[in-house]
Amino acid sequence: MINDRPTYLRVNLDALLNNYKKLRDLNPGKIALAIVKADSYGLGSKVIADYLYKNGVRHFATATLEEALELKDVVKESMVLVLGVTNPKNVKYAVKNNISLTCPSKEWFEETLKELEKVDGKLKFHIKLETGMNRIGTSEEKELMDIYNLFYSGKTEFEGIFSHYSNADGEDNEYDDYQTANFNRLVELFKLKPKYTHIENSAGTIKYSDRDDICNLSRIGIALYGCYPSSNIEKLNKLSLEPVASLVSKVTHVKKLPKGTKIGYGISYETQEDEYIATIPIGYADGLLRRAQGFKLNVAGEECEIVGRVCMDQLMVRCSENIKVGDDVLVFGEYNNQQISVDDFAAYQNTISYEVFCCINKRVPRKYYINNMEL
Ligand SMILES: *Cc1c(COP(=O)(O)O)cnc(C)c1O
Repeated sequence: MINDRPTYLRVNLDALLNNYKKLRDLNPGKIALAIVKADSYGLGSKVIADYLYKNGVRHFATATLEEALELKDVVKESMVLVLGVTNPKNVKYAVKNNISLTCPSKEWFEETLKELEKVDGKLKFHIKLETGMNRIGTSEEKELMDIYNLFYSGKTEFEGIFSHYSNADGEDNEYDDYQTANFNRLVELFKLKPKYTHIENSAGTIKYSDRDDICNLSRIGIALYGCYPSSNIEKLNKLSLEPVASLVSKVTHVKKLPKGTKIGYGISYETQEDEYIATIPIGYADGLLRRAQGFKLNVAGEECEIVGRVCMDQLMVRCSENIKVGDDVLVFGEYNNQQISVDDFAAYQNTISYEVFCCINKRVPRKYYINNMEL
């Protein structure tokens, strides 16, 4: 397949691995599980999981069973945990492929046990405790003990118990402490301890790196991909993450326009004087959304404002007379010694890096680099 368009997402695998090691070393007592859900936050989970696996990572998590199945050939000898709720009808796929599932409730566990009667082999599962996020999981002691009392069936293996911080990226620790206390109390109910106990996401992992607690694993998502979960976490200054993803393109058209010329759909911009306008082949169908209008991209080292509406496949920027067709464009990340933080790009649009990454459409090729060489 040809790749004619110069727009692509550069993924720096060295930076990814460095981030992984920094996070792992921050908590020497804990296993660092790599969250590769949603196609590794849009960066491409096949290549990323493969690279981490080759560098010794053996614990992964996805959001869905489909995502876990897609990775199973890549990360053979690993724990792959599905974090969301899996339909009990499909547990046979989890058992057959040694994928661990999340148990969100007694009802789920009972239905799953029924399905398991038809399946050879055991299901590995992690119980999800509700401690304050109020998404999935249970906090009812009676319900948890009912689940516990169903373990005897022999069709399951109690591999883990976990919960999830909902405000670990926030300014204070009050709600984390409340969740931690709930977690400790509920974990205590289980006489039989599973292999893994975990509650921390990237924010918790960084914030509580000095803490001695009942957990032996942390789940690392966004920090692996080079972003702090929030400025509060960045301010702790505990580690310097390296940018992993850079969205780049090239100028495809430049023209000089007289003062008063209208640009793009809805004629929302009019040149203020004689201006040079460059066109770049990236638009909202690539995930560069209309709300980015006005943001300044880096074109051959120059800050160039997006003027007029972002189109589906292209956008226009105001530039100097020095800009020419073929010049490099950086939307966010790091390229040719230029930098635009994805957090700034996200903040401009009133969102977070997570959403920026996940919005980058399939049409944008992902290219992977080790030592600055394309894979
Ligand atoms: C997405 C997710 C994570 C990772 O969160 P980050 O903020 O990206 O580190 C961890 N645990 C669960 C349950 C998640 O859904």
